[in-house]
Amino acid sequence: MFFEEIRKDLVTTGNENNFPMFGSGRIVTFGITALAGLIRDIIRTVGLEKGSTICFRYGYEAGIAQALVVMEHYNFKSPDEFLKICETLKTMSGIAHVEFENMELDEQGKLVRFNGIWRDSLEAYIWQSQFKKEYSGPVCIILSGMLSGYTSAIFGQEVLVEELVCETQSHRGYCSFEGRPLSGWGIEVSHFQAGLILENLEDEMTRLRTELRQAWDDMERQKSEIADLKQRFKMPGDPDIIYRSPAMAKILHLAEKVAPTRSTVLLQGESGTGKEVIARFIHRYSSSAKDPFLAINCAALPANLLESELFGHVKGAFTGADLDKKGLFIEAGSGTIFLDEVGDMPLEIQAKLLRAIQEKVVRQVGGVKEIPVQARIIGATNRELKSMVGEERFRDDLFFRLSVFPIEIPPLRERREDILPLARHFLTRMNSDHPGFFPKTIRLMEGYDWPGNVRELENWVEYAVILSGKERIRPDHLPLDMNRSLANPIKLLATDLPTWSELEKRYISYVLEQTNYNKSRAARILGMGNSTLWRHLKENDETNHPQGSPPNSSFAHDLNDKMKL
Ligand SMILES: [Zn+2]
Repeated sequence: MFFEEIRKDLVTTGNENNFPMFGSGRIVTFGITALAGLIRDIIRTVGLEKGSTICFRYGYEAGIAQALVVMEHYNFKSPDEFLKICETLKTMSGIAHVEFENMELDEQGKLVRFNGIWRDSLEAYIWQSQFKKEYSGPVCIILSGMLSGYTSAIFGQEVLVEELVCETQSHRGYCSFEGRPLSGWGIEVSHFQAGLILENLEDEMTRLRTELRQAWDDMERQKSEIADLKQRFKMPGDPDIIYRSPAMAKILHLAEKVAPTRSTVLLQGESGTGKEVIARFIHRYSSSAKDPFLAINCAALPANLLESELFGHVKGAFTGADLDKKGLFIEAGSGTIFLDEVGDMPLEIQAKLLRAIQEKVVRQVGGVKEIPVQARIIGATNRELKSMVGEERFRDDLFFRLSVFPIEIPPLRERREDILPLARHFLTRMNSDHPGFFPKTIRLMEGYDWPGNVRELENWVEYAVILSGKERIRPDHLPLDMNRSLANPIKLLATDLPTWSELEKRYISYVLEQTNYNKSRAARILGMGNSTLWRHLKENDETNHPQGSPPNSSFAHDLNDKMKL
């Protein structure tokens, strides 16, 4: 039976918690590093012998559990088939490539013995990395336990799998093992079972408890440090501000500092970087959070309308002014007025704005009274205000009044760490049940330059959500424009930050593809001799692509996919 079939049969998703499941149990995935650390800590804490027992028992229980799932799904007649599945499961779970050989049964069909080997054992790897030369016996203990548990379950009697020679001892590239019923090893069942139970762990437990208490104290300290950092970098309950980048953390730190003051703030940054979000943040954490936050786009209105929007007008001031209008400065009270695209404000209005900020009075259009105002001003612009001052398109006195506390918001492409959290945030907001993005899509999004910044990202996520329906978002669910503008293949080659040699490999593949697999041309472009290129290809097993046909390796295939998007 093939890997894929078994996977489909036994590994499912979509239970109510949306976890991947193996049979009816949850699958947990964590990297080798964590497991290696766990094994190391166990051995170092309780010693090799007890540590091995713990590992063996863990494997034994896992083996039985796996066998139960398999037996529930498949009704095989011969143990052979169960062993085949076991091999596949071991590969699937990243433990080792196991191969059973020479199974011997007696006349009654009872197990006598089986042999086999496993390659690329996870434990051998872990031991070599964690313990170096400290121990030279067989080390694949969890794996032995797993096979013991699994085969005990399928043969219906206690089977013990012993590692005969471990890869770590022989350096021949694999470990060999043998499995026999306990009687075949001359072991009493009761003795075996007792061996699985740990005794005299009291002392260790006491020590462990002390260490645990220590760890708890550390954790408490870390928690309060984290809370501290959160306080500094992210305001509680602020779901609008999504970021992971240090750049945004710094900006929020500045915003938080300036919020409780009444200072005028100037937010600078490209369109769509979220200037209004920061302005609202400042307002929300100011002393006048309960007063209105009023936003106006200074580029969207002609001068006379903008003037009456900002400062109000009296009835009859101009044709169509049938009623008095207060204007934002008066309506805001001691709240905040957000002047978006303030750089586009006509010069004559700039003079009136300066007066409102400087003297804290406004005069309504057509009015005679000076009305006192106290609103705080937050300006925003995507232009170089300073150079506009030089060109006399922006008043220098107003510029200095506005830029008391300037905050520069970097474009999204300069804080790529924020792309994924933002994309996930928008996705969840649009459809909380959506299954998410394919890794390839994420790589694409993280490699894209986002000229329209956060707003563009938000739009594209919305587009992709509509197009993908209930499916995970693939690259072809993204708008064509975005796929097309991913024209910088080097950036694309390096989006996932590969190692230098991996990047080299990818680049060689890319050049080959571009030259239609003409190796001499490719070598010339790469600045290497034909034989050097040939060596590279041989190392990566890419020597056999006929002219013009696509490469075969999965890497080049993947790359090929990317380039065709
Ligand atoms: Zn081994």
